[in-house]
Amino acid sequence: MNQQIIVKIKDRILQSSSIVIVTHTNPDGDAIGSSLGLYHFLLSFKPAIKIKVVVPNDFPSFLKWMPAVDDILIFKSDKMAGLKVIEEADLCFCLDFNSLKRTDELMPYIAASNSFKILIDHHPQPENDFDLMISCIESSSTSELIYNVIHALSGDRIQKKEIASCLYVGIMTDTGSFSYSCRRAETYLVVAELIRMGIDSELIHRKIYDTYSENRMRLLGYCLSERLTVLKEFHTAYIYLTTEDLRHFDYQDGDTEGVVNYALSIEGIVLAVLFTEKEGRIRISMRSKGDFSVNDLARKYFQGGGHKNASGGDSYVSMNDTLILFETILKHSKNELISKN
Ligand code: 5GP
Ligand code: MN
Repeated sequence: MNQQIIVKIKDRILQSSSIVIVTHTNPDGDAIGSSLGLYHFLLSFKPAIKIKVVVPNDFPSFLKWMPAVDDILIFKSDKMAGLKVIEEADLCFCLDFNSLKRTDELMPYIAASNSFKILIDHHPQPENDFDLMISCIESSSTSELIYNVIHALSGDRIQKKEIASCLYVGIMTDTGSFSYSCRRAETYLVVAELIRMGIDSELIHRKIYDTYSENRMRLLGYCLSERLTVLKEFHTAYIYLTTEDLRHFDYQDGDTEGVVNYALSIEGIVLAVLFTEKEGRIRISMRSKGDFSVNDLARKYFQGGGHKNASGGDSYVSMNDTLILFETILKHSKNELISKN
């Protein structure tokens, strides 16, 4: 950690009377884990402070056991309260995203506020929307970065088990349970410290991954048996789901989480995509292996972005037209898909 930056962050925290922590739309385990980890830390670092985590919209129920999760303000459900928090804040931590656009409906209010904005994130190509940045692409997760920031700010080990549990959730989910984005020894040293704090890593794993409803499990089965297309010559597999499919399986937020990884786990597949029809758009979730960049693909064709091997975007034409466009894109990318296999 750059000491000068840490000193600046410390000064800002000490000068502030109201802090807001914000994260990206459709918050995932790392977004919620890093936000709550920092929240717990700040509560003990500066006890009298006003502090709130504000997320743009709701998040999956498998995250709703996390310590102090009920303190999170969901902007979509309580806009007035959210606006007040953002307006009043003199310091705004922006976690787990690289562009204010990723905060969706929150964006104009954060942009217009006078708060000092600190980005802590691990996505490539961060934009110039912030007053101070800790942007580290090599990090497994924002939660790992938050661990390092807390450690540098307090000059000590993490003291609260709540912080450790939250950060562990973020690191575990953003690495797919330590299967990608986790080649660096530093990640495991952080995890070792979290485990030393007394967290039950096996229980946390079960709380996140072993909480399928019957409908979610049957939806996964349906995706794999009825909706999976494998295009061997493009080293690509994709799955699509219509709103009718979602209705049939009584879809809840988070039910398609992880589905795209099954398509990627087919031997020889380099690119896997899940297309989901949602509220007038097609939500696209992409994963790749090795050097093929789905960040580039999402940016170029689907107004999105993310990481090299995990990205997302949207299409505003019908499912059918989106799939036709996608197959055209594959033809353009064929050489790259073959050479990076
Ligand atoms: P997921 O497929 O799990 O929704 O997202 C995978 C990754 O891509 C995450 O790191 C997420 O932050 C990023 N991502 C997902 N959707 C978008 C998007 O619409 N725009 C950008 N810039 N990144 C996205
Ligand atoms: Mn992340």
